[in-house]
Amino acid sequence: MSQVFYRNTLIDANMATAVTTAKKYALPELPYKYNALEPVISEKIMTLHHQKHHQAYITGANGALERLEKSRKGENTENVRGILRDLSFNLSGHKLHTVFWPNLAPQGKGGGKPGGRLADHINKDFGNFDNFKKQFGDAAKNVEGGGWAVLTYDHETDALLIYQAEKQNFMHPPSMPLIMTLDVWEHAYYIDYLNDRGKYVDAWWNVANWEDADKRLEKARR
Ligand code: MN
Repeated sequence: MSQVFYRNTLIDANMATAVTTAKKYALPELPYKYNALEPVISEKIMTLHHQKHHQAYITGANGALERLEKSRKGENTENVRGILRDLSFNLSGHKLHTVFWPNLAPQGKGGGKPGGRLADHINKDFGNFDNFKKQFGDAAKNVEGGGWAVLTYDHETDALLIYQAEKQNFMHPPSMPLIMTLDVWEHAYYIDYLNDRGKYVDAWWNVANWEDADKRLEKARR
């Protein structure tokens, strides 16, 4: 019986049926303990945020893919636009959180200033670290409603770029490499900072993992 793999789908050439073998999205482990970022981010927030919020995006993304599969088989008459909107929202949430966790490190390892190529790039693209910090912080503090501040790298201009992922619904999976992501949905800070998002963003710099961001930049430039 001959079989060929095509885009995550195992096609049995004899039976002319397609069986999906696509890997499901799964919750990544944190590279530190839930209480490791205290007092900047409490154990309670980290636990809920990772186990409940991030997991919900993963469940949502996998669920949307199943609904799409049913649509392909004619078992689902749902509007594809609605499914794709759910997929975009949930998959974006998963991808952004997957970078958010290792972007953080306990104080001592985290905090301070970037080094390596990231430092050179920040100086070239923003003038100096303080300018960068102001712009990234402002982007985070001023997201309307829920969303993210994102640092990315654009090959076309060989430059770092900051943007806001408002409500994280891009309607397409982010295609520019994520260097740093800062979650400013209320679930990311409300238990610790109540409505003071600015205080959370200002404290976040103390646990920013520049080594991780620098590694992501090196990879993105390749
Ligand atoms: Mn979140």
